[in-house]
Amino acid sequence: MTSNEITSIVIAGGGTSGWMTAAALSHHFTSTFPDKKIAITLVESSQLGTIGVGEATIPTLRRFYQKLGFTDIDVIKATNATCKLGIEFKGWTDNNSNFIHPFGLFGQGTKEVPFIHYWLKAQKNASTNSNDLNDFSLGVNLAQQNKFFFPPEKPNSQLDIFDWALHFDAALFANLMREYSVNHGVQLIDNIIEVVNISPTSGNIDSLTFKDGTSVSADLFIDCSGFKALLIEGALKTGFDNWSHWLFNDSAVAVQSKITSTPITRTISQAKSAGWQWQIPLQNRMGNGYVFSSQYLDKESAKASLLADIDGDILHEPRSFTFTPGRRKKAWNKNCIAVGLSSGFLEPLESTSIALVETAIEKIILSFNTPHYNDNDINRFNEVNALEYERVRDFIIFHYKANQRNDSPMWQRYRDMEIPEKLAEKMQQFKETGNIIRYPWEIFGADSWLAVFNGLNYLPTNYDARADKMDNDYLQLHLEKMKKIIKQQVDNAPTHTQFLVKYCGYQP
Ligand SMILES: Cc1cc2nc3c(=O)[nH]c(=O)nc-3n(C[C@H](O)[C@H](O)[C@H](O)COP(=O)(O)OP(=O)(O)OC[C@H]3O[C@@H](n4cnc5c(N)ncnc54)[C@H](O)[C@@H]3O)c2cc1C
Repeated sequence: MTSNEITSIVIAGGGTSGWMTAAALSHHFTSTFPDKKIAITLVESSQLGTIGVGEATIPTLRRFYQKLGFTDIDVIKATNATCKLGIEFKGWTDNNSNFIHPFGLFGQGTKEVPFIHYWLKAQKNASTNSNDLNDFSLGVNLAQQNKFFFPPEKPNSQLDIFDWALHFDAALFANLMREYSVNHGVQLIDNIIEVVNISPTSGNIDSLTFKDGTSVSADLFIDCSGFKALLIEGALKTGFDNWSHWLFNDSAVAVQSKITSTPITRTISQAKSAGWQWQIPLQNRMGNGYVFSSQYLDKESAKASLLADIDGDILHEPRSFTFTPGRRKKAWNKNCIAVGLSSGFLEPLESTSIALVETAIEKIILSFNTPHYNDNDINRFNEVNALEYERVRDFIIFHYKANQRNDSPMWQRYRDMEIPEKLAEKMQQFKETGNIIRYPWEIFGADSWLAVFNGLNYLPTNYDARADKMDNDYLQLHLEKMKKIIKQQVDNAPTHTQFLVKYCGYQP
């Protein structure tokens, strides 16, 4: 098997994914091989823009920038960010319904039996529905009341565990990553890539030629050119798995608006007749967008619907996007790795695109514990990447499959559609046993699935019989205790605004 040595890397594209890749690789190579200079160059064009959306994240983002040495406060201050405890889904069952998918746990189980089974037992025996699952989640309760504090480093019990992410200005975050990269030796070329030159013998990418006739060559190329996928698809014709038979949304219209109240700690996803509308609160503005299916709504109607549901004055003309859900058949092909939109796209219902950028970067770093790669590295990367995309895809599909809306034929079509096998297995297992199957490389854990299962009223018919070892009265006593512990923490917590003022210099 050939071992390919790396002495130079070119990153094509300077959006969020390009600069995150540059920052992480410059950190990795300078700290892992201090004596071996690996030249990293990023090509972007000041004449071409970035996608300019992508502002809701999940907690993995925090781990990403912490590894580079940034604190949460550094990033919040630099990017006008707010704290995000989860996503509130409105109208996904009936029009007045809502539920929160928090980044945190529900309840405290025993060593043998997860909490969900005790909760199901209590539900079965309760004369009234007195135990709302949400009462057992600190994350949900903080989010509902718009309160925030740093999660304890050493939690007393599972009841104290929650996590958080950011709503941030993606352009400011890319600037932060750019500054870090340049300070860590990344060379920047401002030019337009016109030709991707392929070696006739190896089929590898040799070099990129720019509009002014100059060129750059490297051993390894990272395609961060966005939806254009200039290298991985334009040049290498890698192929794309199209998932639009499961996810009908293929369009979005987005606009920023003035903020009209104090920023909240959750992203809003409001279901609408042909898709859903997001609200992402930053310190200084609100991000809004309608993700929809062009089979059920035209662009102008989507725009009108979006604007009708925005409180504050809009800050610019709405922008339109079209996309195809799916992933590149191989994210690593020859000497080219696709990261970000060039490697695939899943609609931002669970804010996962930037998280998939992070996991791609992590895998690149794992492949380069020595400055070489071989076919095993490529195959492993592609295998894991495919699973990560598919597991996120299935989580998103579940939201649609379990919807209960009737305001357009789209929602019925989702309910009727065949779903991927692994998702069908997970749903069936939960329905019949209350157990949540964990697949390798899933980004979302059992409590995330539980939040969405419960929020969409998809509940099991049975529970683990071992929960019956606990007497009903004793169980109810414990449940009441848990609720009390959570309520006390929420009562004592500062508001999100107080938190931002105290730590982040926010001026309401
Ligand atoms: C409607 C919508 C909403 C989204 N919301 C979220 C969200 O809430 N959360 C989330 O995690 N993600 C979200 N995303 C995804 C997120 O925006 C992207 O994953 C993220 O911004 C990374 O994009 P990128 O860097 O891969 O591509 P881009 O931002 O498109 O960057 C591509 C780069 O390549 C450069 N380039 C292209 N062609 C050339 C050329 N010929 N020469 C030189 N340079 C070139 C461009 O100038 C740019 O610098 C959303 C996406 C869409 C479409």
